[in-house]
Amino acid sequence: MSPEPSATESLAGGILRIDLGALVANWRLLKGKLAKGATCAAVVKADAYGLGMAEVAPALYQAGCRVFFVALAEEAFALRALLPDAEIHVFSGATDASLSELLRHGIIPVLNSLPQIDAATAHAKARGKPVAADVHVDSGMNRLGLEASELAAIASAPARLAGLDLRLVMSHLACADEPAHPLSAQQLAAFKAARARIPAFAAVPASFANSAGIFLGADYHFDLARPGAALYGLKPHNSAPNPMAQVVRLQGKILQVRDVDTPMTVGYGAAHRVTGKARIATVGVGYADGYRQSLTNRGHAYLGDIRVPVVGRVSMDLIALDVSQVPAALAVPGAVVDLIGPHHDADALAGEAQTIGYEILTGLGRRFHRIYVPAKESQPA
Ligand SMILES: *Cc1c(COP(=O)(O)O)cnc(C)c1O
Repeated sequence: MSPEPSATESLAGGILRIDLGALVANWRLLKGKLAKGATCAAVVKADAYGLGMAEVAPALYQAGCRVFFVALAEEAFALRALLPDAEIHVFSGATDASLSELLRHGIIPVLNSLPQIDAATAHAKARGKPVAADVHVDSGMNRLGLEASELAAIASAPARLAGLDLRLVMSHLACADEPAHPLSAQQLAAFKAARARIPAFAAVPASFANSAGIFLGADYHFDLARPGAALYGLKPHNSAPNPMAQVVRLQGKILQVRDVDTPMTVGYGAAHRVTGKARIATVGVGYADGYRQSLTNRGHAYLGDIRVPVVGRVSMDLIALDVSQVPAALAVPGAVVDLIGPHHDADALAGEAQTIGYEILTGLGRRFHRIYVPAKESQPA
């Protein structure tokens, strides 16, 4: 039996289909690019980039992934409840308040500053037991991580790290999605220099690459890679066709179809003026579902293989498509259109919306009828 109910079985205006088989295939593809023995972790922050951590993380675990990263302590606690045995790291580190709770759940904070390190070592001293933690070194992104002056302070006083059970030293690339960008090589050199300077950092596994970093080559891989976006099918770099399998399909349901003629307009603000006879389909997905308003008069959808434009403003629950070129029998109430699909992936939609695929995925709304295709049932891409 197909796991997918027909569109009309669901009352939702849109159907979000998440292919866990494609997700697992992507994880395996990324892992396959790393050296034997290197670890391919998975970044599942922001509810697994909007796709649902509760389904995504166990599917990856079943495929053999054991190391996970989230952004926030709350996300880590939720993940711990799903995966009692996984290794879980938290990018945003720990506050005095959250540290003991993280440790109680066996969660590893990424310490991003000297004050965070000092708090962790003080905690270790107080409880008479080392604190397992990572250290993030800023190699040139200037967002999170130890800065040069903090590195210098540790280099001249290595005892600042006493009490830490250091698990990983990491850094993060700013421009890895642009393979020609010179900053990546500069960051690589800075990361290596930091490790060379501080023996405690050289003695533990290192992690540098996000999705795009994996495609920069083996120099960038170190011991553990931290892909997020590419797992979910987003294009990891801007210089080649997307090698990742598509995980997300978003379909909107046609609610009404109407024939219009000049001089008429469509939607709020009369933002689309009809210039002849036209057929307009109204679809039950809008900006409240993450179909961004910037797609007004810019977005495209597919009815089967036929590309159809969004006309007029995106409203909260609805969009209008010009389906004049579509055979009348196909554009009917109850039929579905691909908003994200085989002809038009999340990156393509993001381009039309003048944003990035990450924002499209993490912005996917809560009202869709969600279908998770189990890993073993999905077809290879
Ligand atoms: C989000 C994040 C990642 C994952 O990046 P992708 O580009 O989605 O692969 C890796 N490392 C850090 C520090 C992050 O914040």
